[in-house]
Amino acid sequence: MKKSPVVVEGRTEDEAPGSAPVRIEVEEEPPGRMALKNRARFFGHVSDENWNDWKWHFRNRISSVDELITHIPLSAKDQEQIRLVTTKYPLSVTPYYFCLIDWANPDDPVRIQAVPSFKEIGLAGMGMEDPLDEKGHSPVPGLVHRYPDRVLMVLTDICPMLCRHCTRKREWHHGGWVHNPEEIERMLDYIRKTGAVRDVVISGGDPLTLSVRRLEEVLAGLRQIEHVEMIRIGTRFPVVLPQRIDDELCSMLSEYGPIWVNTHFNHPREITPEAAQACDKLLRAGLPVNNQSVLLRGVNDTVETQLRLCHELLRIKVRPYYLFQCDEVQGTEHLRTPVETGIKIIEGMRGHTSGLAVPSFVIDLPQGGGKVPVQPNYVVLQTSEELLIRNYQGRLFQYRNPKGSRTGVGKANGQNGRRSGHPNQLTFPNLASSAKVGS
Ligand code: SF4
Repeated sequence: MKKSPVVVEGRTEDEAPGSAPVRIEVEEEPPGRMALKNRARFFGHVSDENWNDWKWHFRNRISSVDELITHIPLSAKDQEQIRLVTTKYPLSVTPYYFCLIDWANPDDPVRIQAVPSFKEIGLAGMGMEDPLDEKGHSPVPGLVHRYPDRVLMVLTDICPMLCRHCTRKREWHHGGWVHNPEEIERMLDYIRKTGAVRDVVISGGDPLTLSVRRLEEVLAGLRQIEHVEMIRIGTRFPVVLPQRIDDELCSMLSEYGPIWVNTHFNHPREITPEAAQACDKLLRAGLPVNNQSVLLRGVNDTVETQLRLCHELLRIKVRPYYLFQCDEVQGTEHLRTPVETGIKIIEGMRGHTSGLAVPSFVIDLPQGGGKVPVQPNYVVLQTSEELLIRNYQGRLFQYRNPKGSRTGVGKANGQNGRRSGHPNQLTFPNLASSAKVGS
């Protein structure tokens, strides 16, 4: 089938910050077409009824090398290596996500997220098991309390897909647990007694693996706590098994708002018609949907991929919220990128597209230090009275700082004779001597 070229505007990672965007041609199939072809190839015998049933996908996850090779050819060496990796870090891919993979490309960005790499154990000495020290911040099992007004509830370690970059990879050995009602009650009790908690995040393992009834019990318990203002659900179901977002689930969730959904698209090819429909159902049920992607080597570590991802997200009314630096997790070193890559990506997006399309690039600090935004530095020089700021094109502008110039109140907008021309042509004695304005 002929591929249609997609032209995107962006910059390559090697370019200097502030340089002009370049146009890059990317050969890409429309999202969903690859999936249709693969479904016919690998799961042509599966009825539409089963294909649209999330429980069928869940039961039929590909979770061993033997299952993998019933679908795709793998060399003996690859099989052996994947077998070795899965003794430490298991494999699980839903048939739906399996069909998003371009199996002709060993470096396919969707494949990288799903299929084990020998580097997961080859570089096992690097990183930490629990870099965010979630255990150290757990006053009761399953609940993490790191920030004053927010807590994280982890109800299960089960996920429909095991993402190779997962921060909670350490839990994968434990064979699939769900906290029992007594354990969940202990979490609720902690929240009840901690009046500062106004925001509860329920996250992965994926909470939507729970039945609607069990999830509803937790939400109902939270809604009885007066100081809990909002609930957030972190889920990758819209990406890896969108069939899960059905009417029954959405109807239940709509009863317990405000609930915000944070999902996790990493590549534009994950935004299929099915994924778009899942997000649309959530939005129609009154649940705003945000995206938290992880910056991954070979997956989404270029300006053009991030631009396409974020534009596609906005098209389906999902807000690009965070772009995470990949945590220092054991078994993920091969997927991590230098911090500079993320900064350059943000720099290549900011100003080149609408601000809504630009996520915050953040590092979740080790030892539970919390999330810190990391930005390109636009302030070139600063005094108490004025700043020298470069824009997205690299041009320098002077900016009067009101805090440091109280005596200048009323002289703004040209009255002091310094803002009457093009800002680039103005001179500030302090700053202009240190940097070339308008360059
Ligand atoms: S869905 Fe989230 S918690 Fe589950 S494996 Fe993927 S990254 Fe980890």
